[in-house]
Amino acid sequence: MKKISILGAGISGVGAAILAKEKGFDVFVSDCGEISSPFKQKLQKAGIAFEEQQHTEKEILQAEEIIKSPGIPETADIIVKAKGKGIKVISEIEFAARYTKAKIVAVTGSNGKTTTTLLIYHILKNSGFKVGVAGNIGDSFAEMVVKDQYDYYVLEVSSFQLDGMYEFKADVAVLLNITPDHLDRYNHDFQQYVDAKMKIIQNQKKKDYFVFFSDDPVIRQEISKRNISPFKLGVSVTENILNGGYLKDENLHFNVNNHFKTLMKLDNVILPLHGKHNCVNMMAAVLAAMATGVTEEQVMACISSFKNVPHRLEDTGMINSVRFINDSKATNVDATKYAIDSFDKPIIWVAGGVDKGNDYTKMEELVYEKVKAIICLGKENEKIKKAFEGKVDTLLETQNMSEAVMLGSELAEKGDIILLSPSCASFDLFENYEERGEQFKKAVRALERKQRRFNMYNIFLSL
Ligand code: ADP
Repeated sequence: MKKISILGAGISGVGAAILAKEKGFDVFVSDCGEISSPFKQKLQKAGIAFEEQQHTEKEILQAEEIIKSPGIPETADIIVKAKGKGIKVISEIEFAARYTKAKIVAVTGSNGKTTTTLLIYHILKNSGFKVGVAGNIGDSFAEMVVKDQYDYYVLEVSSFQLDGMYEFKADVAVLLNITPDHLDRYNHDFQQYVDAKMKIIQNQKKKDYFVFFSDDPVIRQEISKRNISPFKLGVSVTENILNGGYLKDENLHFNVNNHFKTLMKLDNVILPLHGKHNCVNMMAAVLAAMATGVTEEQVMACISSFKNVPHRLEDTGMINSVRFINDSKATNVDATKYAIDSFDKPIIWVAGGVDKGNDYTKMEELVYEKVKAIICLGKENEKIKKAFEGKVDTLLETQNMSEAVMLGSELAEKGDIILLSPSCASFDLFENYEERGEQFKKAVRALERKQRRFNMYNIFLSL
């Protein structure tokens, strides 16, 4: 019996273990940390051998193949040893894709993956397709493939997953942008990260599709360097595109010769997302959906009912004509640039956290133009302070979310926006970006209640 070792017993690892067992492998799961009890129970129920808080090399390195969780770096001791022994190290997506005949739409990019993946899924599902959504986004692709009851999968794929993908081929590949992120995992070499992202189109044939953001200089350059087989569908917010989608006069236009209808306008549809970056995401999603066979009418019928997941430019309410926006998922500079660019009102920007190698010079002009105050919310704020001191009217520091919201509302005037868009990871002060966003929303609700009490009191006094 072929032996397979699985490193990391999270969503993807446990899903891969269950699929591997189902396909007749001798499976061993190893996690150097503690395995959470629901995952332990799942492994036990499936009769899968596992260990936690250790990696027993002798056992692990007997495998012919290793499936590695995307969280484990290539430099981890056990991975280096496995590779040294010639054992193939792959990702859960690579493994699972071997066992499905369904068509695959795979979405990657530095930013916008979740939004675009969910939008494609929404369009396909509401158009009557039998479709599953998996990958980086939540459920395990491998576990879905155990039952394999879908005709299509929409997969959110991170660069770490792409690192372990070799034979995988997407029927429709979507590449939203490539901007510096996670460089700590790529030897601080941007090109290594770019090469990982470009693997989204590996093995694609002529009959496949490649949807990409054609305004992105890095993507443009990579395309010019390569011989690309799939049918290319570009997306632009700056120029008309012959094969693909473009933004013009506040409308999304689709112009695809040979393959689809020649022109499609969405000007009579209420678009579900805002900001230029989301125009890119929407156009990419529409093109990907149409490449799988969804009609223009079907897209029009369901696009406006899409609701994005929280923490991405999430409208969190208005107090005294000041709007609060939760963009806690913005953990790099590019995401924040688009967030700031989405508003035409003065912004009080709540920023900071764990810096992943940010270059704030790219934001200087935009901040100078649109941001009236910065509230630094991190343990270590020197980099932001150094970048923007003197370029904005006010720069304050706090390590407490309620205080950040309070300070913001004291500085704000009618019509202003208070934007939490940190450009940084969250784990200096919070468990994760979700907790950071939830604390922001909680603080806004508390402020709202306080304001209501204050208004009532004033009414009472005036009686
Ligand atoms: P990902 O899954 O790649 O992290 P999300 O859809 O969760 O992407 O969005 C993450 C952050 O990036 C949010 O702050 C969001 O507003 C921003 N964002 C979304 N789409 C784009 C895009 N196409 N370009 C730049 N930033 C984007």
